[in-house]
Amino acid sequence: MLNRRQLLAAAAAGALARPLAAAPREVLVLGAGLAGLAAASLLAAQGHRVTVLEGRRRVGGRVLTLDAVPGHPEAGANVIGPNYGRVLDAATRLRVPLRVPPANLDSGYAIDGHKIPADAWADSPFNPLAGRLRAVPPARLLGPVLRDNPVAAGPDWCSGAHDALEVAATDYLGQRGYDAAALALVDANNSYGNRLADTSMLSLLRVGANFGRAVAMGQPVREVAAGNMRLPEALAASLPVPPVLGARAVAVRGRRDGVEVTLADGRHFSAEALVCTLPVPALRGLRFEPALPAAQREALVAIAYHKVVQGHFLVREPYWADSGEPAGWWTNGPLGRLFVRPLPGGERYNLTVWVNGDSCDRYRGPEAAELLADDFFRFNPAARGRAELRQVVRWAEEPLTGGSWALWGPGQVGRYFEALQLPGDRLFFAGEHTARANPGMEGAMESGERAALEVMRRLA
Ligand SMILES: Cc1cc2nc3c(=O)[nH]c(=O)nc-3n(C[C@H](O)[C@H](O)[C@H](O)COP(=O)(O)OP(=O)(O)OC[C@H]3O[C@@H](n4cnc5c(N)ncnc54)[C@H](O)[C@@H]3O)c2cc1C
Repeated sequence: MLNRRQLLAAAAAGALARPLAAAPREVLVLGAGLAGLAAASLLAAQGHRVTVLEGRRRVGGRVLTLDAVPGHPEAGANVIGPNYGRVLDAATRLRVPLRVPPANLDSGYAIDGHKIPADAWADSPFNPLAGRLRAVPPARLLGPVLRDNPVAAGPDWCSGAHDALEVAATDYLGQRGYDAAALALVDANNSYGNRLADTSMLSLLRVGANFGRAVAMGQPVREVAAGNMRLPEALAASLPVPPVLGARAVAVRGRRDGVEVTLADGRHFSAEALVCTLPVPALRGLRFEPALPAAQREALVAIAYHKVVQGHFLVREPYWADSGEPAGWWTNGPLGRLFVRPLPGGERYNLTVWVNGDSCDRYRGPEAAELLADDFFRFNPAARGRAELRQVVRWAEEPLTGGSWALWGPGQVGRYFEALQLPGDRLFFAGEHTARANPGMEGAMESGERAALEVMRRLA
């Protein structure tokens, strides 16, 4: 007997093998991030008339290249894994050149303000770790538990097979010998929860499994040579009808045999089906008529998004060279991590300060940029006059995003993963938060593909 996944795959194969050109249907897609663009591309390739409505004045969503900053650093998605089949395929098909990114400069550790070169970590008096964890670098502290990872890469994490792992990461790790100092270091730069106590261990194991699978491929990561945003731009340009920009949806109304979307400026768009790819915080601002099922409404309220603040600096002189200190840092202080990469020519550098989780709260409000620059120059006094802050990006405060990615707290995968994407009669949900097998950009495209197939089966 076929399971749900196999049925979906079989239906998908059938739908794609037979173009539906004889009966083109009208479909709306909300959001021109990778999920929406992937869905629109597939639907358009099958002959359907697709209109993409995008609230911003640009496509790409959480793929955001800072074109105005020399070196065009990425404020959103940066790394394309070797296991990202859909992303790599789209780049190849659309002739968007990729490259292996230049390596970041070496990094040291700064614990409670004490700077420690990487090779001195294990013996440093400022290393707060004990026992078998003492020699483990802070950035790899989950390594020991990932060696016996009970979760497989792909969709295993949301299959229902791992309910017992839906516990707070602090509890799971605590039972495995992580003391308070070790937990505090894991918490300091945790990318999958705003606080470690609110992070489901299952989601950390999921990320670890996918990362392990990518590493096992033995191939380098990639990025788009001219900036990752060129990929969603190329996808948008390949559609028969370009996305409607500045089209912020405020209401979705189910009608007989179709759906109507109302925009903030009062315009209306109707179609026979709708693929909605908005991130959860943006979805909360949409009015649905009839109301979504209670389980879905509960999920939309419950799922939090990760906070990320970035400070993008341009370094005109390698201020670290005189002292012999590393250029990059992993800190347990307010600045989080500092990544440094050379610009072509090797004379200037992009430096990104990357703050995760609740530590971002320090950089809220109008003084955020000034405070971040002050913190940076206090941490790196030699950088004064040789580096300047060019842009601050605060994902949690972006109204059409509300955070960098969906977070799964203890118990939330089993409770909310399916509910979050319950399809209606003509309403289908996609976006990174609905992806089963892959994270990030690949997950967004995977989800768009799944939703496009659901639409095709519904309208066939
Ligand atoms: C800082 C950061 C780093 C990341 N690093 C990586 C990485 O290295 N590798 C990786 O694979 N992934 C990474 N990601 C994740 C990746 O960027 C996302 O998973 C992916 O781009 C999400 O695509 P999406 O289409 O699901 O959502 P989005 O890109 O958010 O697209 C949703 C779209 O909907 C639009 N929208 C919202 N509200 C409305 C409305 N009311 N009406 C109309 N339109 C609306 C938005 O403007 C947006 O364009 C990163 C993300 C961030 C923020």
